[in-house]
Amino acid sequence: MIANNLLEKITTSGYCTGCGLCASVAEPNQIKMKINASGFLRPVIQHAISVESDAAIKHLCPGIHLEHAAQVQNKHPIWGPLVNVRTGFAQDAEIQHLGSSGGVISALAVYLLESGKVDFVAQTAVSKTAPLVNILQKSFTREDVLHAAGSRYAPSSPLENIRELFQSGQTFAFIGKPCDVAGLRAYIAKNPQYKHQIKYMISFMCAGVPSIHGSKEVIAKMGADINQLVSFRYRGDGWPGKARAVQADGQSFEMDYNSSWGNILGKQIQFRCKLCADGTGEFADIVCADAWYGKDGYPDFAEREGRSLLLTRTEAGEHLINEAIHAASIQVSPLDVGEISKMQPYQVNRKKVVLGRVLAAGLAHRYFIQYKNMGLVVASLATDPVTWFRHAWGTFKRVKGEVQ
Ligand SMILES: Cc1cc2nc3c(=O)[nH]c(=O)nc-3n(C[C@H](O)[C@H](O)[C@H](O)COP(=O)(O)OP(=O)(O)OC[C@H]3O[C@@H](n4cnc5c(N)ncnc54)[C@H](O)[C@@H]3O)c2cc1C
Repeated sequence: MIANNLLEKITTSGYCTGCGLCASVAEPNQIKMKINASGFLRPVIQHAISVESDAAIKHLCPGIHLEHAAQVQNKHPIWGPLVNVRTGFAQDAEIQHLGSSGGVISALAVYLLESGKVDFVAQTAVSKTAPLVNILQKSFTREDVLHAAGSRYAPSSPLENIRELFQSGQTFAFIGKPCDVAGLRAYIAKNPQYKHQIKYMISFMCAGVPSIHGSKEVIAKMGADINQLVSFRYRGDGWPGKARAVQADGQSFEMDYNSSWGNILGKQIQFRCKLCADGTGEFADIVCADAWYGKDGYPDFAEREGRSLLLTRTEAGEHLINEAIHAASIQVSPLDVGEISKMQPYQVNRKKVVLGRVLAAGLAHRYFIQYKNMGLVVASLATDPVTWFRHAWGTFKRVKGEVQ
């Protein structure tokens, strides 16, 4: 294996998100993304990296650097740049049912393709030959988009081959996790010759990426045989929908969302996600999330008709949503910004304590993630100092132990 000081520092510090952008920034075939022993996708160096690539990775890697321009308008301290806040769902009942929440992301993808606004949609989907492997799919049809619908709570590296998408000369929309979108936004700023090709960046709120070992545990607890698997979904088919494994002999196994995400997957997220200041996709044009209904002050995961929370962050995103409403692709209702925290309490709580965690991790590693203009000081002031310090101290102790 070939060593590289920067990538080694990023990965051993637990700062790598696994997005794969470094592989696209380096020369072709210098870096490949591979699953490591902890079950996360990490860069593996195949050929020595040039000084230029190294400098570009240092600047663009979303694991170590996220920055809003100082003059970004309408920036909420917790929710980031906002143009409009709504709830909504796909008008097409099949898309609403297959989507993770209200199917809004898939409905927008289908609308973009069928209206000819983009040549394709670049999105994460399950491999057609390996039911636990996530790939970057170029979707050209409604059928392709439906194949990719539903969250895959496992590692994905959609930016690993992003340069090839630009070299195709075609236009596209990109759907990815907040870190994927932040990395792509930075890549475009550095390579403005590609700007006209990427029409929209769509993201979703993200609590973190679970290890692939979590998926294997879910499958084992369901009673399915991993060697017999022909398909595996994490959710969708209802809201929140069940995790579902199907074997080659036709037997199928299910697990509800609370048991799969709550008891297994959500407990195995990578360390970097605990330090995330951008769980809500602040660099995207449009962001969707679960618009959970509340019960006793907490989100209620009882099965219902799917409903998405829908944020627009740029004028381009707002324009697209208005067009999609007009074309009867999605149906929406207005939502007061104050309601978001009832639907997404995890995102609020993490943002309030993340500065303490990041400083603690930086001190322990003597290497700091660079967050600029992310509203973290204001968010920190919204929590009580004891909680803030408890999270910082917990992170410091964890880093001094072992990091995944
Ligand atoms: C790892 C992870 C963590 C999440 N955490 C939260 C959270 O904390 N709160 C919350 O409200 N929502 C979270 N979500 C998102 C949520 O599950 C739904 O994606 C969101 O509500 C949008 O629903 P939808 O019906 O509009 O999406 P759909 O129409 O079902 O479309 C989902 C889109 O997500 C893409 N996608 C699926 N898996 C991945 C992946 N691993 N990497 C990149 N892209 C992917 C697909 O390509 C598809 O385009 C998370 C999703 C993931 C993958």
